[in-house]
Amino acid sequence: MASHVVGYPRMGPKRELKFALESFWDGKSSAEDLQKVAADLRSSIWKQMSDDGIKFIPSNTFSCYDQVLDTTAMLGAVPPRYGWNGGEIGFDVYFSMARGNASVPAMEMTKWFDTNYHYIVPELGPEVNFSYASHKAVIEYKEAKDLGVDTVPVLVGPVSYLLLSKPAKGVEKSFSLLSLIDKILPIYEEVVAELKAAGATWIQFDEPKLVMDLGAHELQAFTHAYSALEASLSGLNVLVETYFADVPAEAYKTLTALKGVTGFGFDLVRGSKTLDLIKGGFPSGKYLFAGVVDGRNIWANDLASSLSVLSALEGIVGKDKLVVSTSCSLLHTAVDLVNEPKLDKEIKSWLAFAAQKVVEVNALAKALCGQKDEAFFSENAAAQASRKSSPRVTNEAVQQAAAALKGSDHRRSSNVSARLDAQQKKLNLPILPTTTIGSFPQTLELRRVRREYKAKKVSEEDYVEAIKKEINKVVKLQEELDIDVLVHGEPERNDMVEYFGEQLSGFAFTANGWVQSYGSRCVKPPIIYGDVSRPKAMTVFWSSLAQSMTKRPMKGMLTGPVTILNWSFVRNDQPRFETCYQIALAIKDEVEDLEKAGITVIQIDEAALREGLPLRKSEHGFYLNWAVHSFRITNCGVEDSTQIHTHMCYSHFNDIIHSIIDMDADVITIENSRSDEKLLSVFREGVKYGAGIGPGVYDIHSPRIPSEEEIADRVEKMLAVLETNILWVNPDCGLKTRKYAEVKPALSNMVAAAKRLRTKF
Ligand code: GLN
Ligand code: ZN
Repeated sequence: MASHVVGYPRMGPKRELKFALESFWDGKSSAEDLQKVAADLRSSIWKQMSDDGIKFIPSNTFSCYDQVLDTTAMLGAVPPRYGWNGGEIGFDVYFSMARGNASVPAMEMTKWFDTNYHYIVPELGPEVNFSYASHKAVIEYKEAKDLGVDTVPVLVGPVSYLLLSKPAKGVEKSFSLLSLIDKILPIYEEVVAELKAAGATWIQFDEPKLVMDLGAHELQAFTHAYSALEASLSGLNVLVETYFADVPAEAYKTLTALKGVTGFGFDLVRGSKTLDLIKGGFPSGKYLFAGVVDGRNIWANDLASSLSVLSALEGIVGKDKLVVSTSCSLLHTAVDLVNEPKLDKEIKSWLAFAAQKVVEVNALAKALCGQKDEAFFSENAAAQASRKSSPRVTNEAVQQAAAALKGSDHRRSSNVSARLDAQQKKLNLPILPTTTIGSFPQTLELRRVRREYKAKKVSEEDYVEAIKKEINKVVKLQEELDIDVLVHGEPERNDMVEYFGEQLSGFAFTANGWVQSYGSRCVKPPIIYGDVSRPKAMTVFWSSLAQSMTKRPMKGMLTGPVTILNWSFVRNDQPRFETCYQIALAIKDEVEDLEKAGITVIQIDEAALREGLPLRKSEHGFYLNWAVHSFRITNCGVEDSTQIHTHMCYSHFNDIIHSIIDMDADVITIENSRSDEKLLSVFREGVKYGAGIGPGVYDIHSPRIPSEEEIADRVEKMLAVLETNILWVNPDCGLKTRKYAEVKPALSNMVAAAKRLRTKF
């Protein structure tokens, strides 16, 4: 019985790759230093999997930036602006594409399916001259072989690669990317031939696009590509790997009929229908790579239950054709639980990070061939049982309160125009009111105080004093700038989710549970392990303190339930929406406490609402329904005169505009750095919605200071589409990562622009 791992994290257990990359980029170390760190990481990963007994060990899943960019390099598809003149692509061209250089900006980056990983989007067109320009896959295969490990080289499959691309600048939007298939296949053939010559016996093509909603034309491309590759693949075992969802029925037919393919990999964790598809028919004599160990989460596998699934599959495909695998690359989970000595012992027994998941895969494979490690299985069963029965997981009161929410849709008692009238009586704001999104610059000093307070090196008293001083500074600055609705600046927060997670029950935090987000950037999501409740108020102290410093309205500042959920590792023992409802109830308590404390404007950020959209369109409605409902739960109980704001960090709304309107916030601030008129017209559609809207008037992601004219010009463009009485003037996101030297003049120009325009009405 064989075992397989789809892919492995690259960062290293202590983010070694991150530090090596950043030091290289800063010119503090050489390319050789970086290569050495990378090679050491690869070798330790291969050795570890080999020691653990994994039969099919992946190579070429390591990357110094991104596997899609690696494929772009392999195909020599470098956009001309990076000045590549042929030859093997080195770090200079590679990192210029990834990060830009002094004269050329980086290539676009976008989300990898529904994960928090981002890939570099290939830019293709009829003019691209493909050539074999990076031998990385072969080099890494040989590198492993020299270490005594025979690996399965992994390539992003040719059809998924094209479907993940976009037409290059100047190429018509309607250009068929798939028409390039016959131009890239010869390069794949060259790579395959070299891998064969180097001794590879298996090769893995990742074709995750197969889980999406594809049309007949796209499916046909798979059939065409693999038929065309068949001859060059002969003599090799070929695995086509899918992940992140089940493969739709039509695509399943296409996939399992592909020529030249010996094995098929499926996600049995997220792919809720995968099992039925396989039961409905699987080609005889082919290998089934059964992804039963979750690569998207940090929970220990329920080995007994996986074993029974695997036994059923064995009955279908035969004993020698079943391979135990992970549901997807382990890139999307944390690296190694070994580095969590401080984590609570009981919670730790419920978890498995990448290193532990490899062991699970192997244990399952061994159990299937009669070599069950009884001790390991019974330890696992005990942990599963403790997780089910632990009082720290279940809180009856929370369960009941969340269950009681179903059926009702939780709306505020008056409609938005009545509410806005009541609010205006209280707030008395000018037209085109100005505000900011929440955070102000986080200085090194501020970060130091927070860190030392956490490490108990600074007393509570001193800490409160320091934060209070910071808030006071931010309040005074906003008054000087003459901003209408103020914020306290969020100096007490390191991160908008972590801050709340740390104060809610049911959350745990890791020391090294990092997951790659893009390039050298990693995030450390909290772990939601139990029913969520709020033991005590979380922000009321700081918000009321800030309000006491000014006569102007001070926004209470909260993170919404959907964002907290989407940026955490969530429970797999109840549906996501149940967890979301629980968080919503906790935030609702906070909203109501803020209101009681005299806070009249409360912002509930839903920066990540869009991110949670499922991969398939057919599932969007269900998600949006409970996500929007969760948001409404948080504020359905406030007075008409309390103004609820929300903020979202993106501007692609066209497809979800009705859901956004259904959130029924009084004011919504959004990112709009490209002053996208299409976006605004979308909102005009919803003018009957009538709520306030603040499309960002300048881009906070750049250090550039926008002029008064530029901002005024932009606001006027907005006014051509939106009505004066609903438009707010604000930057497009929080100011946390900017410097005061940028923020002060930018906000001053923003306020001046608003004032100038007010005189016109
Ligand atoms: N209130 C948060 C801030 O200003 C919002 C951040 C975000 O949208 N990502 O930092
Ligand atoms: Zn934002």
